[in-house]
Amino acid sequence: MAPPDVLKNFNKIRYLIVKKFTFTLISFLNYFKNEGNILFKSFLSNLLHTLYPNQCPYCEIGIKYNMLFCSDCEKNLNYDGYVKEFKTRLNQNFACLSVFKYEGNVKNAVLRYKFAKRRDYGEKFSKLMANCLNKKINTANFDIITSVPMDKIKIKKRGYNQSQELAEKLSKFINVKYKQTIRKIKKNSEQHTLSGKDRRKNCRGIYEIIDPSFIKNKKILICDDVVTTGSTLSECIISLKRAQITEVFCVTLAISTIDFK
Ligand SMILES: [Zn+2]
Repeated sequence: MAPPDVLKNFNKIRYLIVKKFTFTLISFLNYFKNEGNILFKSFLSNLLHTLYPNQCPYCEIGIKYNMLFCSDCEKNLNYDGYVKEFKTRLNQNFACLSVFKYEGNVKNAVLRYKFAKRRDYGEKFSKLMANCLNKKINTANFDIITSVPMDKIKIKKRGYNQSQELAEKLSKFINVKYKQTIRKIKKNSEQHTLSGKDRRKNCRGIYEIIDPSFIKNKKILICDDVVTTGSTLSECIISLKRAQITEVFCVTLAISTIDFK
C-alpha cells in the first residue's frame, strides 16, 4: 500500500490538474462565447453557467447567466454614476466618472475582484462602466483608452492588473482602442494605507509615458478601479499632459466616500 504522504500528494496533484483543466475550459469557452451565431453563443453561455454558475458580484446569490446583478441589487444600488472634479498638484483640472460609491456590497465586491480571485467580475464591472459612460459623455470622441499601471511584482502576485483588465474590457464595449501608455518607474507604498497628504507625496513622479509621440494630440480616457483623493490619476494626468495630449477624462468603477484632508 502507498504511504499516506504519497497518496496525499497524488490527490493534491490530481485536484490541481482538474482545477487547471476546468479553468482552461472556462477561459476557452469565455473566449468563444462572443463569436458565432446566437444559438452557438447561447449554448456556450448555458454550458459556462452549468460549469461556473453566475453570481451577483455584490451579494453573491446565484443569477441567470446573462444578468449583471440580482434584481435586489439592481433595485437597491445606485449605478447612475458620480462625476467629480479634481485638480492635479500643478493646478490642472480633470473630471472623473465613477459608477458606484465605494461602500457596502460594492466595496466587498471590489475587494473580492482584487484580492480573492474573482477575476470574472471584471466583465460585469466594465459593462456597467460602459453603460454609465455612454449615458454621460460621447465616448466616440476618444482616441485611446488607457489604464493606471501597476508594479510588475504586484501583477505577478495578483495575476493581473485590475485597472488594465477593466480598461481592456471597457475598450470592447465602447469601441475605443486600448493602449498601455503609462509605466511605473518608481516603487511606492500602497495608497490605501496612507492619509490624503501622504497619498499625494507617495505617488509623486512615479510614472512616465511609454511613447510620448504616440499620444501627442490625442484624446485619452483613463481607467482605474477606485478613485479616492485622485492623487494616482493626477500623477498619470501630469505625465499625459506633458506629452501634449489634447483632452483627458477619467473613469473608475467606484469613488471612495472617505473625506481626506
Ligand atoms: Zn445582488
